[in-house]
Amino acid sequence: MSRIRPIVLAVAVALAACSSPDSAPTMTETTPTATGTEAVQANPLLTASTLPFQAPPFNLLRDEHFKPAIEQGMREHLQEVAAIAGNSEAPTFANTIEALERSGETLTRAYTVFASLVGADTNETRQAIDAEMSPKLASHQDEIFLDKALFERVKTLYAQRNELGLDAEQVALIEHYQRRFERAGALLDDASQARLREINQRESALSTQFSQRLLAASNAGGVLVDDVTQLDGLDEGDIAAAAEAAKAAGHEGKWLLPLLNTTQQPVLVSLKNRELRARVLAASEQRASRGDGNDTRELVRELASLRAERARLLGFDNYAAYGLADQMAGTPEAAIRLLTDTVPAATAKARAEAARIQALIDQQGGGFKLAASDWDFYAQQVRQAEFQIDENQVKPYFELDRVLNDGVFFAATQLYGITFRERSDIPVYHPDVRVFDVLDEDGKQLALFYADFFARPSKSGGAWMGNFVEQNGLTGAIPVVYNVCNYTKPAAGQPALLSFDDVITTFHEFGHALHGMFSNTRYPSLAGTNVPRDFVEFPSQINEQWATHPTVLANYARHHQTGEPLPADLLGKLMASRSFNQGYATTEYLAAALLDQAWHALPADAADIADVEAFEADALKRYNIDLAEVPPRYRTPYFAHIWGGGYSAGYYAYFQAEVLARDGFAWFTENGGLSRKAGQAFRDGILSRGHTSDLTELYRAFRGGDAKVDALLEYRGLRD
Ligand SMILES: [Zn+2]
Repeated sequence: MSRIRPIVLAVAVALAACSSPDSAPTMTETTPTATGTEAVQANPLLTASTLPFQAPPFNLLRDEHFKPAIEQGMREHLQEVAAIAGNSEAPTFANTIEALERSGETLTRAYTVFASLVGADTNETRQAIDAEMSPKLASHQDEIFLDKALFERVKTLYAQRNELGLDAEQVALIEHYQRRFERAGALLDDASQARLREINQRESALSTQFSQRLLAASNAGGVLVDDVTQLDGLDEGDIAAAAEAAKAAGHEGKWLLPLLNTTQQPVLVSLKNRELRARVLAASEQRASRGDGNDTRELVRELASLRAERARLLGFDNYAAYGLADQMAGTPEAAIRLLTDTVPAATAKARAEAARIQALIDQQGGGFKLAASDWDFYAQQVRQAEFQIDENQVKPYFELDRVLNDGVFFAATQLYGITFRERSDIPVYHPDVRVFDVLDEDGKQLALFYADFFARPSKSGGAWMGNFVEQNGLTGAIPVVYNVCNYTKPAAGQPALLSFDDVITTFHEFGHALHGMFSNTRYPSLAGTNVPRDFVEFPSQINEQWATHPTVLANYARHHQTGEPLPADLLGKLMASRSFNQGYATTEYLAAALLDQAWHALPADAADIADVEAFEADALKRYNIDLAEVPPRYRTPYFAHIWGGGYSAGYYAYFQAEVLARDGFAWFTENGGLSRKAGQAFRDGILSRGHTSDLTELYRAFRGGDAKVDALLEYRGLRD
């Protein structure tokens, strides 16, 4: 359910200030569609794409194009920035701020595509380029944000911002730049800036290494099974997929259970063989900490230490204080309070769930104590007993295409009037990727949407959204948005049947996509999902909730063979069981979120932690969330959100945003529910607005008051 951006994407977001063409339409005339071999060999990243909506020309792209295009993009960008900084005229909004927004066109185009592929479809060449370019990009950013002449101009405009006759979005943009310069170290002395430059380069290199080692560790860590009888409990489709995965990994005739994203693995719900369950969970938890070349612990230690040092240089007590200063939460204390306030209720519910499961094990004469690897298998049986609901019974009703067209797209049409048309003429980077036109209610093209659903070894774990092209009011560019997920690819000829969690993830990621597609701002730095992390998960979590809206669910949940709707009693049970296992789900999440805070609360002089596991155990104990049966959703060595992604000190953001999302969804319920009118109000009030105004005020104006935690606690069954 996560929206994880590789760290490189965070750089791309930072560079989104630069965006698309405006002054260079002539460049589009010299594209590879022209005749002649020279044009055919040209680097397609150096010119604006001639495909509809500047969709990336994946058909022409080769790995050797990336590095020269990124390097040329950096050179052009620095020249443009030097011209802005060296302008002899007094700074104005147009010649400084807007000029920055228009700069870096080539770099943005090249790097955005590259970073997307590094996350969704990497290979050794791309990884090598990534490892080489990440520190250079970090240093490129420093060249801009530590440029004294440039900062002087920004600072001057910032001081005058309310007297320049600017509109609210322009003032917000000046404030955005001032904040970025300050947070990058523009106010520091030369010695501190020099050290900061070193830290930035090292940190970006380490983050890239982390992502690459984790992907390798996950691919190497899958559990190989020799005897098919051990897979008892898996359905035929899963067994066939495991056989194909083994074959692809060079183990024909065996079965491979690949490691997926989180600590708990989806197969653990079904596997009857207790020893195999334990093997699978152990493989998951030992990921990236086996002492081999894929071990990430040394990287983690150094990252924590560098981040603490960076925070100290910038005048903060620790990295969490620095990281949260520009978020809605504001301080680590506020974020931690939100989490720890929920720990007692969550762990109490998890303990009650554990007792219920143990009773079932005893009742069956199991003769063992519940282990974390047993949880899902028995929780499933408890769920069956209490709600007469079985995940395998509902899966046939969640066929991917129906979920997408009759669920996700249907809800968007009901709410926002938009419609979708799949097209096959846009080049894609992998045959599994699908492309859709997104049309507004008046038939006008709103966006282009790519969907890449299935797991493969070239893809990082988790699910995320991104932009190939950011909405840009300066150039008129419309958003080109993608979702990437990691659903098990069915064996050839079989339908893709999703778990209910996967269904929710599909809605979730599409909520991010809507946030990107409805963006209607003038300046790309403030567009779409370029908002704080603890707000960015708000639209996605709102969209999740349509998955269980009765009208929507009835529309998509149909049997893949018979077309029969999900029987009313099964539907009723599904709804009734929504708060089931929320003690576990909340506890594993809170444990990971608090672990993230602990790593980033270290002061600079004590940030070198010798024993990663001991530190983790201590932190969980300190927060009273060390339940043996409920390991954290991510353990430190494979916590990609915080070491390789953009969520360092920010994993709490899902919870903070869920407060908004549960409270915000209550607004829908009070205002017509699934209707065009309510959808339009949400689109106008939130989804189109990007970061053009203060987000607390934006929410308040939409909701008519501040968000309260009550709806969240109610939903998760955590109220007394
Ligand atoms: Zn998300």
